[in-house]
Amino acid sequence: MTEIIDGNAVAQSIRDDLATAIDQLADAGHTPTLATVLMSDDPASETYVSMKQSDCEEVGIEALDIEIDPEADATELYDTVSDLNDDDEVNGILVQMPVPDHVSDRQVLRAIDPRKDVDGFHPENVGRLVAGDARYKPCTPHGIQKLIESAGVDTEGKEAVVVGRSDIVGKPMANLLIQKAPGGNATTTVCHSRTEDLAEKTRNADILVAAAGVPEMIDGEMIGEGATVIDVGINRVDADTEKGYELVGDVDFETAEAKADAITPVPGGVGPMTRAMLLYNTVKATGLQHDVDVDLP
Ligand code: NAD
Repeated sequence: MTEIIDGNAVAQSIRDDLATAIDQLADAGHTPTLATVLMSDDPASETYVSMKQSDCEEVGIEALDIEIDPEADATELYDTVSDLNDDDEVNGILVQMPVPDHVSDRQVLRAIDPRKDVDGFHPENVGRLVAGDARYKPCTPHGIQKLIESAGVDTEGKEAVVVGRSDIVGKPMANLLIQKAPGGNATTTVCHSRTEDLAEKTRNADILVAAAGVPEMIDGEMIGEGATVIDVGINRVDADTEKGYELVGDVDFETAEAKADAITPVPGGVGPMTRAMLLYNTVKATGLQHDVDVDLP
């Protein structure tokens, strides 16, 4: 029987387990605080930010909600980030991407104090991750590591294939999988849009992470018998539903499930983990900033 990896359940157990660290911080007089900055009127971005805020409130993290007019000058965003960097009450800063075209996302990510960069995208934090000394692991790949662990799959010595090389998913995922550390030690191949004969590579995977953003591009034919399949994709496709669309992953679930030993669904797989690991990083950041040793899940 193929195991359907329940991201909602694993995320809930992480949220529950964060209570210990949050209590330890409270004993030391600190409430973790995450500032979210939204400079967009895209409904999807608005939804993501409001979900992150309600996640925070649910576990006892304070959420500071800052909205900037998408038409405003870029300096308004940089000044806001600079104020948040200087604010001792703020432990984590998240600027919701994408930012408008007249703002440089690179410059924004570099403006965030790396100690408050709970997304883990600042070059200093990327460098630390690559060097095997991660401060904050980026939320999606970190969540995937937890999902793989929860399925009882040992990555050590396995063939891992990551489809996608983005800065937020593919690259950090591959970096975590090759680390000489638990959840790593895998022989890792990174595939992308220029990869020739993708199916030959993916079929070889004991652990396959699909993060290409192409609806259902990986089907059962591309998956080796007994693989662990992690579907990161969230793609809107037209459908005869109330909203006029439905969400599908990068993996064709039905044919993939027939081959895999374990697989994540979409929705309910990686998505909830990304959200839970943001809380994790915010709690970790608070401990680091106040020199409180916290027990993290
Ligand atoms: P991206 O567009 O930045 O990167 C996609 C990568 O896939 C690129 O490196 C590209 O080279 C590769 N790619 C594209 N088409 C390909 C093909 N046909 N064959 C092989 N490789 C191909 O996307 P991203 O930000 O990394 O996100 C990927 C997907 O994951 C999207 O659907 C996104 O919505 C989803 N996502 C989900 C979560 C979550 O929490 N579940 C988080 C982040 C992203």
